Amino acid sequence: MSNDAIRLRSVTRKYGSGGTSVTALDEVTLSFPRGTFTAVMGPSGSGKSTLLQCAAGLDRPTSGSITVGDTELSTLSETKLTLLRRERIGFVFQSFNLLSSLSAEQNVALPMRLAGRRPKKAQVREVLEQVGLGDRARHRPTEMSGGQQQRVALARALITRPEVLFGDEPTGALDTQTSREVLALLRGMVDRDGQTIIMVTHDPVAASYADRVVFLVDGRVNGELLGPTAEDIAARMTKLEATPC
Ligand code: ADP
Repeated sequence: MSNDAIRLRSVTRKYGSGGTSVTALDEVTLSFPRGTFTAVMGPSGSGKSTLLQCAAGLDRPTSGSITVGDTELSTLSETKLTLLRRERIGFVFQSFNLLSSLSAEQNVALPMRLAGRRPKKAQVREVLEQVGLGDRARHRPTEMSGGQQQRVALARALITRPEVLFGDEPTGALDTQTSREVLALLRGMVDRDGQTIIMVTHDPVAASYADRVVFLVDGRVNGELLGPTAEDIAARMTKLEATPC
C-alpha cells in the first residue's frame, strides 16, 4: 500500500472556457504522507478550496491524476466516488453543519445511517469520547458552545475512520482559546492515532500546529515550510501577499 494517503500529479483545474477561462490549479504535484498534518495557505483566490475539493473527490480536475491510497479517482464513476468520499474521507468546515433537531450522538451517527449502516452505540460513544464530549452525547447543538459543536462535527467526520480528514477553515468561526483546543485535538489525532489531516487556513497560528505548510499562489505550489513557527508562517504570508500579480 502506498505510504501517501493522497497524491496529486500535475493536477490542473480550469473553470470556464475560451477567453474567460480561469486556471484555479495549474499543474499541482503534491503528496500527503499518512499520519501527517498539512496546512494549505495562500492569498485569496490562490486555489486552496479548489485543491481541497479535488483532493477530496468533490470536484474533478481538468487534467492530472489524484490517488487516495492506491485508488485513482479519475477512473471512478460518480457512484463509486460518492462511496469513496463517504467511507474513506472525513470533512470539517468552518460552519459546523450540525442538525439542530438531533442530539450530539444522533448527529455523529448520521453518516453511518446515510450509508445504510446501523451505527453501533459503543462506536458513537468512543468517537465522542475521543473529542472530549463523552458526557454530552444527549445534548443538542443549541445547548453547546461553538467549540463543542465543532467537536461534534469532528466526531461525525471520524465515525467512519476516514483515511484522510479534510478541514476547510475548521477554526474560522471559533474564538482564540477554543481554536487552540480544537487544533490541539487535531494534533493529538495525528500523533496518537496516525490520522492524516489536510487543513486550509488563513491563520498562521492554526497552521503552526501542522507538520508542514504548503503555500499556493495563482494555482501553483509556491514552496513549503516544515515544522514552522507561527511567526515564520506569518512572515511568509506577508511576503506572498505583497507579491504583485
Ligand atoms: P481560494 O480558496 O484560495 O480563495 P479558490 O480555489 O476558491 O481559491 O479559487 C481559485 C480561482 O478559481 C479564483 O480565481 C476563483 O475565482 C476561481 N474559481 C473558483 N471556483 C470557481 C467556479 N466555480 N467558477 C469559476 N471560477 C472559479
